[in-house]
Amino acid sequence: MNDGALEPVVVENPDGVGPVVIVCDHASNRIPAEYASFGFAEDALQTHIAWDPGALAVARLLSAELDAPLIWPDVSRLVIDCNRAADVASLIVTESEGRPVPANRDLSDEERKRRLDTIHGAYHAAIEVCLAQRRASHLPTMLIAIHSYTPVFLGKARPWQVGIVFDDDRRLADHLLSGLEADPALTVGTNEPYSPADNVYYTVARHARPRDLPAAMIEIRNDEIGDEAGQQRWATRLAKILLAPAPGSRPARHAMV
Ligand SMILES: [Zn+2]
Repeated sequence: MNDGALEPVVVENPDGVGPVVIVCDHASNRIPAEYASFGFAEDALQTHIAWDPGALAVARLLSAELDAPLIWPDVSRLVIDCNRAADVASLIVTESEGRPVPANRDLSDEERKRRLDTIHGAYHAAIEVCLAQRRASHLPTMLIAIHSYTPVFLGKARPWQVGIVFDDDRRLADHLLSGLEADPALTVGTNEPYSPADNVYYTVARHARPRDLPAAMIEIRNDEIGDEAGQQRWATRLAKILLAPAPGSRPARHAMV
């Protein structure tokens, strides 16, 4: 997707001083040349099992609106899922939604370690560097992850246009939920279509918990962000909520230390 063919991790606007850092775990459907020989099926790469369509575009627009650093792995989740712990089966899938991923069968420990080091490890190291620099600069930080999901999953329609996923730290989630729920046109999922129990909260938990950063995952149904107009609409909507003062508090950029 980007021309830096050998670069598995992209950091955009690293010196942004807005109150948010954005991560986009499933931004890319790229298979780096060094993995092409594994034989990832081209048609699978065009579907949501390979990436989160529309998520990177929204994340970039939001990064521009908020002056936020944006960090993403430029590698398909079919090679390795950067939003999974190293010890869960869905880190490197051998099937996704009933579709086999033969390229990942019978992986050697060595190959698994290579992917963990060069992609997963490099991505999380980049997030750590960004957050450490901000702390050193005394920049208050909220961490958000932008994802998208398919409107129909295993034959079942998903009614929410957006879902906020969070654990027991509700500081940012409650703010996002109330902002989104104020729009009567939206059906908002609370820990839908996924929740941390589904192992999907890895990146946010890994980086936000130890630093006590307000954090949440924002999941947008991908038919909402299939074109530029939809992507811009969502970026503007989210930026407005993220910058709005929480009720009864100082402005979010100062309150969310
Ligand atoms: Zn995702």
